Amino acid sequence: MAAASRAAFTSIPLFHEKLLKSNRILAVCGAGLSAASGLPTFRGAGGLWRNHNAIDIATPEAFEANPGLVWLFYAYRRHMALQAKPNPAHYALAELARKKSGFRCLSQNVDNLHVRAHHPPAQLSLLHGSLFSLRCSNSPTCKWTDPYNTADPLCPALSPASESNLDPTKPLPLLDPSKPLAEIPASELPHCPECKTGLVRPGVVWFGENLDEKMLDDIDAWIERGEVDMVLVIGTSSFVYPAAGYAERARTEGRTSVVSVNLEITGKDWGRMREGDFGFEGDAAVLLPELLGPVIGELELPVE
Ligand SMILES: [Zn+2]
Repeated sequence: MAAASRAAFTSIPLFHEKLLKSNRILAVCGAGLSAASGLPTFRGAGGLWRNHNAIDIATPEAFEANPGLVWLFYAYRRHMALQAKPNPAHYALAELARKKSGFRCLSQNVDNLHVRAHHPPAQLSLLHGSLFSLRCSNSPTCKWTDPYNTADPLCPALSPASESNLDPTKPLPLLDPSKPLAEIPASELPHCPECKTGLVRPGVVWFGENLDEKMLDDIDAWIERGEVDMVLVIGTSSFVYPAAGYAERARTEGRTSVVSVNLEITGKDWGRMREGDFGFEGDAAVLLPELLGPVIGELELPVE
């Protein structure tokens, strides 16, 4: 059945027909969406930062053991995200939100590019937080937060993460594992202005930490409020958590189309698609404006 339906799964006219009839639309976005803006994902192959696996430094334990190193990793990611620009896919999703009040976007990306593309905030849930929000390492005991801070560098000790690469043929010393990093003592990192004892930490969800409960309740309530016509899964696999979980929960058999937009869709993934689903392989920045065109019209990209 899967092989026979491949043409239907990839038909843009059939997708447009379904999109025009869809009112409640959920999107789940992953790192592939921001890859088109030039941001590295730090996951999977080539996902190393210096000689560290992101899984080893994006944890509360790593921050406790070496906050200077963890902060350099995040300071570098903040710097990179500030240099990057939202791509047409971010703008297309923001425009879809303005055109369809029943559209809700969940994103795993912490780079702030949805926000910079002016996605309506009430229709956006940042599952893993943001590189540009700060909180206290004593949270939840200490409630201090700074919801939006784009200082680059955040403090003088983190300035090696904000250096521009003057010779693009060579890696930045920061990224070259053969060049040792000067250890940054905790005393040189920003401290919480409220409790004074905690360190300021990035407002992202680390491995081993829970997602914000209120946000999850809010998403659940949205899913339960009515049948979902379409689930767009962008820049991540629709068969991998968390997108797979949302796609399954939102699916009403015979009504909901699950739509994968990703650089690569595996043979196994094609085989698991059901009637009415769609798969579009390629760069989301190219595909989304075309796919959403009948609703959002011609995209006007702002000059940043
Ligand atoms: Zn504090």
